[in-house]
Amino acid sequence: MAARLNRRRFLQLVAAAALAPEGRAAAGLRVVVAGAGIIGASIAWHLAKAGASVTVIDRQGPATHASRASFAWINATWSKQPQAYHALNQAGVARWKRLQPELGLPVRWGGSLEGSADASREKEIASRVSEQMAWGEQTKILAGGDLAELEPNVDFTALRQVIYSANDGATNPIAATQAFLDAAVALGAKLVYPCELTGVNLAAGRLKFVSTSGGDIAADRLVLATGAATDSAKRFADWDLPQRDAPGATAITAPMPRVINRVLWMPKVHLHQRDDGRIVLGEEDGPPASHAERLAGHPNDFPTREIALQHAERMLKEAQRYAPDLTKVEFENIVIGWRPMPLDGYPVLGASPARPDVYLAVMHSGVTLAPHVGLLAAKEIAAGALAEELKPFRPDRHFTT
Ligand SMILES: Cc1cc2nc3c(=O)[nH]c(=O)nc-3n(C[C@H](O)[C@H](O)[C@H](O)COP(=O)(O)OP(=O)(O)OC[C@H]3O[C@@H](n4cnc5c(N)ncnc54)[C@H](O)[C@@H]3O)c2cc1C
Repeated sequence: MAARLNRRRFLQLVAAAALAPEGRAAAGLRVVVAGAGIIGASIAWHLAKAGASVTVIDRQGPATHASRASFAWINATWSKQPQAYHALNQAGVARWKRLQPELGLPVRWGGSLEGSADASREKEIASRVSEQMAWGEQTKILAGGDLAELEPNVDFTALRQVIYSANDGATNPIAATQAFLDAAVALGAKLVYPCELTGVNLAAGRLKFVSTSGGDIAADRLVLATGAATDSAKRFADWDLPQRDAPGATAITAPMPRVINRVLWMPKVHLHQRDDGRIVLGEEDGPPASHAERLAGHPNDFPTREIALQHAERMLKEAQRYAPDLTKVEFENIVIGWRPMPLDGYPVLGASPARPDVYLAVMHSGVTLAPHVGLLAAKEIAAGALAEELKPFRPDRHFTT
């Protein structure tokens, strides 16, 4: 992998690390990170930066699961409640902005426009937007000419309210994951795949080594960033982590001339257009209940191209209600993603109460959160510095739906 980095970029990354404000608190600490999605990748880079000896393993490969299928909207909008969770997301957005130049992360900024056609929610949304402003967000409800200026090709007439959140952006989650991993590898981290974590081995309650499909690896700490793999916490951290299924489909077009500038979160469909011209389409609700049988094995791909296209066309039809210029669309990629979703919908971050050397990192909105929680988790693992802001998100909280 390091060989794929050009020499200039490699040296830039090493130089950036030498200036790392986090210091090298973890020198000599051997950490295995299981899971090379965006969460494992960010934690791995931050740990490598702190001087840990890091090995990232993945049973399939980098960004092959949730981080491949993510819509990848980076945001701290009104639905992120309560304030502790909102603040974590705000910190996530801010950290993306700081890290983007350092790591060359591919983000298109410009904000988001969230539309609602639901008259019964008007008051609630207006009060949530006021709350957001009080919490420091650059958010407001826009109408008419202001909207036309921001999105000249979008028809907003079917909507009653449109909320503009100026801070938001969207990324290419596969490229972003790879950027974190490249930077970790440039600092000496090892990336090994396909390599499945199969067991943990303790002596006197402390971690000695992990077993994998590729052999044993000596380790002082294990990070479980295994996403929606629901059996992981029980098997490797000896901890019950209640998770629920939350599938979603994402369709990506071939590059197109620019149609939209911002993330559009519309009723039944959401879309953004990346800097490379590709439009990313997603839907709020997962595939219909009639697909339960087909989804039972948690597939990441549709059984045929034809079925995949049916889903993509359904999303496109909804999108065309707002972006009528979206014609002559060619789909390059249509995938299913499983959101890592703890039962109460909030992140789980922290050492397993049953195995203190095993650190759990499972969450939705992981794209927004990755840069910030990667930093916090690395500090907790490397220096034992417990982050106050992660207190509500510990594995031993009481989970309710
Ligand atoms: C459809 C969809 C839309 C989304 N939209 C957004 C959005 O707009 N904004 C946002 O912020 N978030 C969004 N998310 C959520 C976000 O994508 C996830 O929170 C994030 O990608 C999680 O990353 P991860 O690294 O934890 O998990 P993953 O990317 O799933 O990575 C986990 C990895 O662990 C590996 N693994 C599992 N078990 C083992 C094992 N035993 N040994 C070795 N490796 C193992 C898997 O192979 C996998 O690669 C969305 C998710 C989906 C599915």
